[in-house]
Amino acid sequence: MTLQDFLTEAEATERDGATALQTAGDADALEAARIAYLGDRQGRVKALQEALRGISKDDKPAAGKRFNEVRTRLDALHGERKSAISRAVVGQMEDGSLPARRLWQGAKHPVTLVIEEIVAIFRDLGFTVALGPDAESEWYNFGALNFPPNHPALDVHDTLYLEGEGLLRTHTSPVQIRTLQKYAPPIRVLIPGYAYRRDFFDASHAPVFMQMEGLSVDEGISFVDLKSTLNAFAARFFGAARTRFRPSFFPFTEPSAEMDVQCGVCGGSGCAVCKGTGWIEILGSGMVHPRVLEAAGIDSERYTGWAFGMGPARMAISRYKIPDIRILYDSDVRFLDQIAGPATGAAE
Ligand SMILES: [Zn+2]
Repeated sequence: MTLQDFLTEAEATERDGATALQTAGDADALEAARIAYLGDRQGRVKALQEALRGISKDDKPAAGKRFNEVRTRLDALHGERKSAISRAVVGQMEDGSLPARRLWQGAKHPVTLVIEEIVAIFRDLGFTVALGPDAESEWYNFGALNFPPNHPALDVHDTLYLEGEGLLRTHTSPVQIRTLQKYAPPIRVLIPGYAYRRDFFDASHAPVFMQMEGLSVDEGISFVDLKSTLNAFAARFFGAARTRFRPSFFPFTEPSAEMDVQCGVCGGSGCAVCKGTGWIEILGSGMVHPRVLEAAGIDSERYTGWAFGMGPARMAISRYKIPDIRILYDSDVRFLDQIAGPATGAAE
């Protein structure tokens, strides 16, 4: 074979091979093209290699160089087409034949959900939200709320005092005083916020926890308003749950009552969450003590009021049947995922 014939044949092999490889529509067609051109037994590149033997010694370097160009180019085209076809196959699977991947969009913490729900219920009853500082003075946290100076709550074993002056509020009640100082009655506020106590971290206690208080002050407010409002709230928040009021004592209310709802985990038969009683204490409440109104500059002869305080974390435990309060503090997004339910979005 002359060099000219060889080069013509090399040209044809390269051109035909490139067309066959580049136009192969799927993996089977590509494999057929590979066998036809790059196959070890009957491929046209192999035939070209055999023809190289018949080239004269002088022309061999030029022929060999051309042969290598053809083989390299067809090898490269085969590789390109192969990966293009496999990408297309994967693309088709993502488009239609695989379920869409779930997209994690984040979720609100169950305690936040509970607070929002409580705020929404009380908003319908005419309550707005009031906020105040976490670091408080002893007067706002205890003195104005009718705590005697020797009350055990003031002890350093119960309260986190700040260096110098002040303390971390042990309840959100200081915001009641601040609200009464700032606005004239009628007042109906809901006060969510963190409270701090030197408490053990166990299945039902935490040293930092959300608290939610409510305050209603106006002329002619009585215990009937307290009970009917809180029962209306419990009916909406807990559904058909039964409630009960038990006499209690707080320095800042008189009379005072604890309110219980039937345990949502066991339905009243007794479990670890309700400590076997079938009831969950959800809040403390009472008629605002006249001394508290007076401390805030409100005429206690003219105005009366009622207040309550509750722990949204305990409500969340009951609402979502969470067995241990510490789960709320673990920051495990898988837990939030369970509460939030499946996300609606899908990945591309
Ligand atoms: Zn129970």
